[in-house]
Amino acid sequence: MKHIALINVHCDPLEQLGSAEAGGQNVYVFHLAKALGKLGYHVDVFSRLNSRLKKERVRLTKHVQFIRLRAGHRHFIPKNRLGPLLPEFISNFLAWQKAKNAKYDLLHSHYWEAGWVTLQLKYILRLPQLHTFHSLGIMRYNALKGYREQSLNTAEIRHRISVEKEITQKANCIVSTSPYEREYLEKHYCCHPDKIRVVPCGVDLIRFKPVDRWQARKKIKASPDEKIILYTGRIEWRKGIGTLIIAVAKLFKHHPELRKKVRLYIVGGNLGRRAEPEVRDEIRRLKDVCREYKIRDRVEFTGAVQQERLHYYYSAANVCVIPSYYEPFGMVPLEAMACKVPVIASDTGGLPYSVRDGKSGILVPVRNPGAISNQLYKTLTDKEFSEKLVRGGRELVKTTFSWKIIAKQVAHAYERVLEKNKK
Ligand code: UDP
Repeated sequence: MKHIALINVHCDPLEQLGSAEAGGQNVYVFHLAKALGKLGYHVDVFSRLNSRLKKERVRLTKHVQFIRLRAGHRHFIPKNRLGPLLPEFISNFLAWQKAKNAKYDLLHSHYWEAGWVTLQLKYILRLPQLHTFHSLGIMRYNALKGYREQSLNTAEIRHRISVEKEITQKANCIVSTSPYEREYLEKHYCCHPDKIRVVPCGVDLIRFKPVDRWQARKKIKASPDEKIILYTGRIEWRKGIGTLIIAVAKLFKHHPELRKKVRLYIVGGNLGRRAEPEVRDEIRRLKDVCREYKIRDRVEFTGAVQQERLHYYYSAANVCVIPSYYEPFGMVPLEAMACKVPVIASDTGGLPYSVRDGKSGILVPVRNPGAISNQLYKTLTDKEFSEKLVRGGRELVKTTFSWKIIAKQVAHAYERVLEKNKK
């Protein structure tokens, strides 16, 4: 049995999702670990211990466990402030490994800060490293610069990009989540094409399956008579939720008959005392946008919802919108498609990889409320059109994006690296 360490500093895969820094990456690492376990690997997943209430070790199955290492205080620290704590994370990894006599065949790191940690471990332990970026500094900058002032000149972003370049040069393999990211790695990071394996993110088809719409409405206490537009995800400016609110206002302006029949649900972000300051500020701003466009009474902020209950929200919805300004991959469209909801998504980053325009969903230009509003009208009123998208979406996720398929592809990349390393 081969032993794999998945190293993942800021993202605890068992975190409550939808909170400030817990989203797609947490889901990815959790499901990858679980699916690799089923394929016969022994998997240890390492992340930073970020709460006093959490245990240092959680066993998921006989061969998959989650280990939380100390690095700084046991509370949430934003990922851009973890740099000085990374050496402590490395020494605690080595101490844990020594104490448990744990031997690994390879290391698979996630996100650039864990990539740096793992580069050090790679040389100390003489092990091969695979890396998944989940997001790239230059890609993020290029995607966002047209919408809000960005700088490539701060010490923080320069450091991130130089570490990303070092990882692409020194890791044995880069597991990239979309062809779009692959292009970036080759063009902007000079990564050799042979080093890259494109393996997308997956979706849990057992958790995300459609339930009867009216049953789902009951579960989430939604009206059976309204049409629901759904946003699910973290509450962050770059997710484009403000644009979606304006699109809904435009929909009501052009089709006033829909005003009393349509409701927008915004799912995500801790509310109340648990809210992180940046999430609280963004929700306040979004509520102001609703008031400015006079649709506050048609918008529901639910707060973060446990993923076990999310299929009710998807199944209750008539359409799900992913209005991001920047999205390296995007798990939400896959989940919506798995639950048979038509998807409208921004034509950016990794989204066109899963949202095949006109087949499994609709792509719209980034930050364009008019285009979203037109497509909302079409999906809400043209049943045949929506049903076609729903059929295409469900088929696509089943054939391409199940975790079993994804884990086999990642395992194939592991085996190639191990084989090469033997020679
Ligand atoms: N999510 C959740 N509860 C919420 C909001 C989001 O479980 O209240 C999950 C959602 O199901 C998805 C993930 O958070 O799996 C968001 O991933 P995505 O890739 O769409 O965005 P990211 O967080 O990576 O930017």
